[in-house]
Amino acid sequence: ILFSDLGLSEPILRAVEEMGYTHPTPIQAQAVPEILAGRDVLGVAQTGTGKTASFTLPMLEKLSKSRARARMPRSLILEPTRELALQVAENFKQYGAHLRLTHALLIGGGKMNEQKELLNRGVDVLIATPGRLLDMFERGGLLMTQTDLLVIDEADRMLDMGFIPDIERIVSLLPRRRQTLFFSATMAPEIRRLADNFLNSPKEITV
Ligand code: AMP
Repeated sequence: ILFSDLGLSEPILRAVEEMGYTHPTPIQAQAVPEILAGRDVLGVAQTGTGKTASFTLPMLEKLSKSRARARMPRSLILEPTRELALQVAENFKQYGAHLRLTHALLIGGGKMNEQKELLNRGVDVLIATPGRLLDMFERGGLLMTQTDLLVIDEADRMLDMGFIPDIERIVSLLPRRRQTLFFSATMAPEIRRLADNFLNSPKEITV
């Protein structure tokens, strides 16, 4: 299977080629077409399997095919740590090199005012850690009522770090009609319960 079989358009295929990737990894081959088709996905995959591209590439594809309707994030990626959020932002820049899409990072350490200003202009993708995101929300600097594509990454680490109540709160601020992508390295019963709560008939992919 080739990247060009997955339903991605030329600017994204070109970026992938420039990254030096020759073939999609198993999670990419399975997840990308499902995400493009609009399905929720439950991915059981470790770091190193190419899971970041498995959600970033179809997200970019979908965003590039439609326009922003309001000055609020169109999609949200939740990461448990600052470092992971930074890595995802880096990937987003590389895979989106030939597209005109914007992103913002909402992580501890950044300046609240600068982050707020960036959000006010409207972004296609918001990459955030849960605590910082809620902080910004409480300050009135963020509305997500049209954020209809959500990624919960590294759910098992979110659980270990005690972020589950924050995530439940965040999900309650998003529209009910949305697409949700949920990734975890393990599928402990608690994670399964969480996935059942957030996902709507997901395609389950284990690699
Ligand atoms: P991830 O599992 O998302 O953390 O990705 C692990 C590493 O694999 C990253 O350094 C990616 O740049 C790289 N990678 C992702 N997809 C591919 C691919 N299809 N071919 C080669 N390398 C890849």
